[in-house]
Amino acid sequence: MSGTEEYDVAVVGGGLAALSAGLFAASSGLRTTVVTEIVMGGELINLEEVVRFPGIPGPVSGSELAGRVEAQALEAGAEFVFDDVTEIAKDGTGFVVRGPDTEIRSRTVVAAMGAGRRRPGLDGEGDLEGRGVSYCGTCDGPFFKEKSVAVLGDHEFAGREALVVARYASAVTLITRRGEPDLSTATRSAIDGSDRIRVLPRAEVESLTASDGVLGAVRIRDLTTGEVSALDVAGLFVNDGVAPRTSLLRDLVELDPDGRVRVDAGMRTSVEGLFAVGELRSDFAGYAIAAAGDGATAAGSARRLVRS
Ligand SMILES: Cc1cc2nc3c(=O)[nH]c(=O)nc-3n(C[C@H](O)[C@H](O)[C@H](O)COP(=O)(O)OP(=O)(O)OC[C@H]3O[C@@H](n4cnc5c(N)ncnc54)[C@H](O)[C@@H]3O)c2cc1C
Repeated sequence: MSGTEEYDVAVVGGGLAALSAGLFAASSGLRTTVVTEIVMGGELINLEEVVRFPGIPGPVSGSELAGRVEAQALEAGAEFVFDDVTEIAKDGTGFVVRGPDTEIRSRTVVAAMGAGRRRPGLDGEGDLEGRGVSYCGTCDGPFFKEKSVAVLGDHEFAGREALVVARYASAVTLITRRGEPDLSTATRSAIDGSDRIRVLPRAEVESLTASDGVLGAVRIRDLTTGEVSALDVAGLFVNDGVAPRTSLLRDLVELDPDGRVRVDAGMRTSVEGLFAVGELRSDFAGYAIAAAGDGATAAGSARRLVRS
């Protein structure tokens, strides 16, 4: 071994999966650190309301939920480090986790780097980010008061984004490639009850049109007829699925064809001592409660390994 292992468990990430892994690992007496960029909470920080979290029937904001788990993890004894991890590597019987200001040696690592919004890769998308193109309705919705906007996406979270943005915008077009977006009953009926939201089925955004450096319109292709038309919008909110953040693990563990880490039921990857949880692992259920469950499961597997 090239260095002393300072920790039993180093968790990389700061979302609900990471915080839960930190909570359960520290609670079982393992020396535990959680390393994340800037702030704890991950995707939850962007959610005004988290729904379908068992035991919390009423609305709870993502920051409140994350804050509670963060406090529990700290109380249990997990140590927090704020850094952007640039390397996770094997180091003797354990691992080394490095960032610009950090070098941590640990017997086990729980990878919990989550996922970022998938970008459709439209021409000019990068230039127009922050100038009409947004990946976060909660953060940017208030900039579009009484304006027309579009939301791009096929699933529940796109529908929820449309509802958030409709609190500000005068008109919201939910553009979906499907005949019907795949929504929960509650979201579908809230959209049906809104006079600001319309659903545009079997359509996709083909290109963006800028005027004076900001988004002015999107060109939309009708997937049934092939016809292309322009829709004047000041904002396009992209909620078109997520892309796992697995670049640090690419040369270390087995990934599935979507770039997600393959794990077994104990969140074990193909490398002993390295676990993967939450949005970046294959077959993830896509909900906050599942991220928390993954963290608890990985902590249990790590405990069994450390104590074996
Ligand atoms: C629009 C939207 C709405 C949603 N609504 C709900 C809902 O109502 N109910 C529900 O149950 N679920 C909801 N979800 C899903 C839920 O938010 C996620 O499944 C869950 O938060 C994922 O947690 P995670 O810990 O796996 O990842 P994330 O929350 O993405 O956390 C990953 C963390 O890792 C950190 N990180 C990444 N790379 C590094 C690095 N190199 N070094 C250090 N740190 C790093 C990031 O900064 C981040 O803190 C929603 C998701 C979206 C996108």
